[in-house]
Amino acid sequence: MTINALPKVELHLHLEGAAPPGFIRGLAKEKHMDIAGIFDERGHYAYKDFWHFLKVYEAATETLKTPMDYHRLTLAVLEESAASGVIYSETFLSPDFCGGRDLGAWREYVHAIREAADQAQRDMGITLRGIVTVIRHFGPDKARETARCAVETAGDFITGFGMAGDELAGKPKHFAYAFDMAREAGLRLTAHAGEWGGPQSIRDALADLKVERIGHGVRAIEDLALVDELAEKGVVLEVCPGSNIALGVFPAWRKHPIAELFRREVKVTVSTDDPPFFHTTMANEYDRLAEAFEWDDGVFRKIARTSLDAAFCDEDTRAQILKRLEAADA
Ligand SMILES: [Zn+2]
Repeated sequence: MTINALPKVELHLHLEGAAPPGFIRGLAKEKHMDIAGIFDERGHYAYKDFWHFLKVYEAATETLKTPMDYHRLTLAVLEESAASGVIYSETFLSPDFCGGRDLGAWREYVHAIREAADQAQRDMGITLRGIVTVIRHFGPDKARETARCAVETAGDFITGFGMAGDELAGKPKHFAYAFDMAREAGLRLTAHAGEWGGPQSIRDALADLKVERIGHGVRAIEDLALVDELAEKGVVLEVCPGSNIALGVFPAWRKHPIAELFRREVKVTVSTDDPPFFHTTMANEYDRLAEAFEWDDGVFRKIARTSLDAAFCDEDTRAQILKRLEAADA
């Protein structure tokens, strides 16, 4: 079996950030909105740096106004993922974008997204779970409202809680209350850190938010004591190499620390983050990693198993996905 034919497990994907540009342009046209400024001449999303990327991201999200828009978005995104061989996906969902943190509206969005997920499961054989995410630069007060939405919809579909957005805004401890609420409701926890922030941002997220996974976490490589600690404690890193390279966190694939983290026995996984923004797919991530580090299929099989072990799903779902991974080992 070629590397690219391997079934893939993706843990770090922002639903709006995965929106195909053509899909967003179509929605804008239907709604007579002019968002031409966020695209380049080839029709790709255009941005200058990470902070501009956040603005373009929010502008694209302006076209998504109703639960039905999110139903269509979910199908469009899962179709892309399934085409890349993804069989299980966890997607960050944001009550900020889905109804402005109004609980009644949020329930309708979750219902619509879940219906699309069920359809994708039947038609494309891909399983989706949702991680409700705080947008850090919107501040701790909004994070509590977001946590309330997460708590009220926690179950077998909404299984996790996380934090994305500008890593340099505020401190993790400011968000501890929201994370405590989510933990008490049985949600599994992750937070973005160690992408724009250095090693200390990872230590803070682990200590103050008590997360079991870190979104990115790749700048742990600047502090080998932290790398050892991550390996010992089994903290899982949701590594998104193509995203890091597109945003200039590392200058080239060969300079990306994922291989060194893997060698040092940190539990690394591979995801795309916001794939059309970074001109990537899961298939592309696998190709580029294989090329940069001469990784064979054994490495990718191990990464898929690590990802599945760290997935925020119930044990029945995990067992079903495991069967599909094992079938590909035969
Ligand atoms: Zn992310």
